Amino acid sequence: MSGKAWVIGSGPNGLAAAIVLVQGGVAVDVLEAEPLPGGAVRTLELTLPGFLHDFGSAVYPLGAGSPFFSSLPLANHGLNWIHSPAPLAHPLDDGTAVVLERDLDETKKSLGVDGAAWDKLMRPFVEGWSVLAPEILRPVSFFPRHPFLMARFGIAGLSSARTLARRFRGERTRALFAGLAAHSFLSMDEPLSAAFGLLMAISAHAVGWPIPRGGAQSLTNALCGCLRTLECKVKTSSPVHDVADLGNYDLVLCDVTPRQLVNIAGKRLSESYKRQLGRYRYGPGVFKVDYALSAPIPWRAVDCLRAATVHLGGSFDEIAASEQAVRSGEHADPPFVLLAQPSLFDSSRAPVGKHTAWAYCHVPNGSKVDMLAKLEQQIERFAPGFRDCILARRVFSPSDLESMDANLVGGDIGGGVMDIRQFLFRPTRSHYATSAKDIYICSSSTPPGGGVHGMCGYHAAKTALSRWNARLQS
Ligand SMILES: Cc1cc2nc3c(=O)[nH]c(=O)nc-3n(C[C@H](O)[C@H](O)[C@H](O)COP(=O)(O)OP(=O)(O)OC[C@H]3O[C@@H](n4cnc5c(N)ncnc54)[C@H](O)[C@@H]3O)c2cc1C
Repeated sequence: MSGKAWVIGSGPNGLAAAIVLVQGGVAVDVLEAEPLPGGAVRTLELTLPGFLHDFGSAVYPLGAGSPFFSSLPLANHGLNWIHSPAPLAHPLDDGTAVVLERDLDETKKSLGVDGAAWDKLMRPFVEGWSVLAPEILRPVSFFPRHPFLMARFGIAGLSSARTLARRFRGERTRALFAGLAAHSFLSMDEPLSAAFGLLMAISAHAVGWPIPRGGAQSLTNALCGCLRTLECKVKTSSPVHDVADLGNYDLVLCDVTPRQLVNIAGKRLSESYKRQLGRYRYGPGVFKVDYALSAPIPWRAVDCLRAATVHLGGSFDEIAASEQAVRSGEHADPPFVLLAQPSLFDSSRAPVGKHTAWAYCHVPNGSKVDMLAKLEQQIERFAPGFRDCILARRVFSPSDLESMDANLVGGDIGGGVMDIRQFLFRPTRSHYATSAKDIYICSSSTPPGGGVHGMCGYHAAKTALSRWNARLQS
C-alpha cells in the first residue's frame, strides 16, 4: 500500500497511530498544537530551574504492560523504566502504611488475614497478564480469545468496588483496594469500578508501576525516535482548526476528543453522527499541584519512601465518600489525593539533595474551586511538616490543564466517563470509525480508554488501514 495520512495530535495515542500507519506503508505527518510533542506525556520545568515535572501522567503500569509499546525498540531510543522498591504505599492514621509489593507472595504475606483472598483473586490474572492485557486493552469482544480468563475477569470486574472489597476482612486491604479503584473516577458503588481496582493491582504485580528515567518526556521522545527511524516527523506548534486545510490525504487520524472532532471535522461528519458525539459525556476533572521540595516528604510511615506512588485517603469508607461527592458534582472534603515522588528514585528530576512531587485530586468537570489547602491538608495528615519542605509549587486548575492540552476537557484526564455505556460504545458504537470514511478518532475517547498505553491509537490505525485496504480492493 502507499498513501498519505495525517495524524492530528501527538499524545501517546497519536504517536502509536502514526507508527502503525507508517508500518502499514502509509506516509504520515503528525501535527501537534503545542510546542512540545506528547500531550499528557510531557516533562517541563514547571517550578524552579533544574526541577523536572511531569505535566500530565507520571507512572506507567499500562505503558510498561502495553502490548504495542512492548513491540517497539523504545529502549534503543532512550527509554529506561525505573521501578521503585514497591509500586504503591497507602498510609493510614495509625502511622503505618499498607504496601502493595510487586511480588505477589510478598503482598500475600503483608496483607495478613486477607493475604490468601488477595492471592486467590489476583494470581490467575497476574500469571495470565500476557494474554489478559491484549484482551482488556481493546474494544470489548463478545468472543474473546481466552474466554475462561476473560469470564473470570468480567465477573469480578463488572461489580462495584464495594462489592468486590467484601472479599477482604481487614480494613487495611479494603482501604488499599479503594485507592486502586478510585482511578476509575467512578463511585465505589458503580458497576465497573472494581475492574479498575483489579487492573491497577494486577498490573502492579505483573509489570510494576514504573517511571521513566528523566520523566514522562522520555517515553514520548522514544516514540518520536521510532517515528524518526521510519522517516516520519512530528510538526509542533501546528494546531489544526479544520481538516479541510490539510490538503490531499487518504486518511486522517484524530487524537482528539469528540467535542474537538466536531470542531475540526464537523463539515465532513453526518448530522446523525454529530448528534451521537454530542451525547458523549466527559468525566470529572482534576486539580493538580507540582512541587519543588527541599527534602524528601517527611512521611510518618517510613514505608512510603519505598514507593513512587502514594495514595492519600485513609479508609475505604473515606475514599468512597470522596469519590461519591465528586461523582455527584460536589467537591470532596477531604479529597482523595494521588501523589508521585519520582525524584526519590530518579536523581535526574531535581538538583542534588532536592526533590519533586506531583499530586492531584478529583474535582467536578470544569471546577473553579481552589482545592490547594484541602489537598495539602491531606498530605500533611500523613506527612506532618510537608509544607515546610516546599520551595515552590505550580497549581493547575482544570482549565489550566486544558489550556496546555486541549484534550483535557474540563480537566478530564481520561477522555470521557468510563461507565458501562461508554465502556461499550466509546465514543459511539463504531468506536474509531466516523461517518466520514477517511476520518478516524484515535484518542483515549476510544477503546480501551484513558491511560498511557497507545492501544487506542494502535487499534484505530489498524481499523483505518484495513478499511482503506478493503476500499482499494473493491
Ligand atoms: C494530570 C494527569 C495525570 C495522569 N496520570 C496518569 C498516569 O500516571 N498514568 C497513566 O497511564 N495515565 C495518566 N494520565 C492519563 C494519560 O496521560 C492520558 O490518558 C493519555 O495521555 C491520553 O493520550 P491521548 O494520546 O489520547 O491524548 P493526550 O495525551 O491528551 O494528547 C493529545 C494531543 O493532541 C493535541 N491536540 C489536540 N487538539 C489538537 C489540534 N486541533 N491540532 C493539533 N493537535 C491537537 C494536544 O495538544 C495533545 O498533545 C494522566 C493525565 C493527566 C492530565
